[in-house]
Amino acid sequence: MARKQIAAANWKMNLTYQQAQSLLDELFAHKIELSQDQYIALGVPFPYLSLAVDKVKNLDHVGIAAQNCYTQKSGAYTGETSAEMIASLGVQYVILGHSERREYFLESNQMLTEKINIALANGLTPIFCCGEALSIREANAHNEYVGQQLQESLFHLSADELKKIVIAYEPIWAIGTGKTATAEQAQEMHAHLRKVLADQYGLEVASQIPILYGGSVKGSNAKEIFGQPDVDGGLVGGASLKADEFLQVIAGLK
Ligand code: PEP
Repeated sequence: MARKQIAAANWKMNLTYQQAQSLLDELFAHKIELSQDQYIALGVPFPYLSLAVDKVKNLDHVGIAAQNCYTQKSGAYTGETSAEMIASLGVQYVILGHSERREYFLESNQMLTEKINIALANGLTPIFCCGEALSIREANAHNEYVGQQLQESLFHLSADELKKIVIAYEPIWAIGTGKTATAEQAQEMHAHLRKVLADQYGLEVASQIPILYGGSVKGSNAKEIFGQPDVDGGLVGGASLKADEFLQVIAGLK
């Protein structure tokens, strides 16, 4: 079976409830044609998860993502949201380790192992984000740095567990900046990450893991980036907030 291709949205902390309703209605006003291996995942804010699950419940290949979950199962953690709560709503995915969470909420590779574990234990598919800052790329240390993020957060998993993970490579210098990695830069990193996975788990496992690209993907550049052999779709911020733009991104899946 061919590898999954995923167009994933990350709405971040945007939109009111009414705006979220309108965006979902606009997105699904017409049937979106998806082939057997193509999927959509919408990362919406916590208060809108139920709404979004309800809107897509009759749509094949369309799932909802939370943008985070806590490391612990339950208890006295005021303000946090557990993987179990998220899964109990019918949510399928959880975005973990986004660079904004690493930067503003000090999420470490170690903490992310716990989030990955609890997400998997609750049947959620983690969309594990990784990526380097500009200074690291300029020092030509990006391959090693991102490889290490995978190693430290994922390599405790068994091969069967790893096969449930989606990876999103998001160079920090390209997120929300309008500056996209070139298709070649994306392919080069994705091929590197697949090799890192293959060295640890074997080629058969590595070839099944979707690796999404994120960083200023929009309707006009999605097709070229997603067309690269090791790029299996995208994680999309700004361009996922407008229905017509995100529909174009979806149409860019190969
Ligand atoms: C993101 O937040 O994951 C992202 C890639 O944002 P943008 O598409 O706006 O760069």
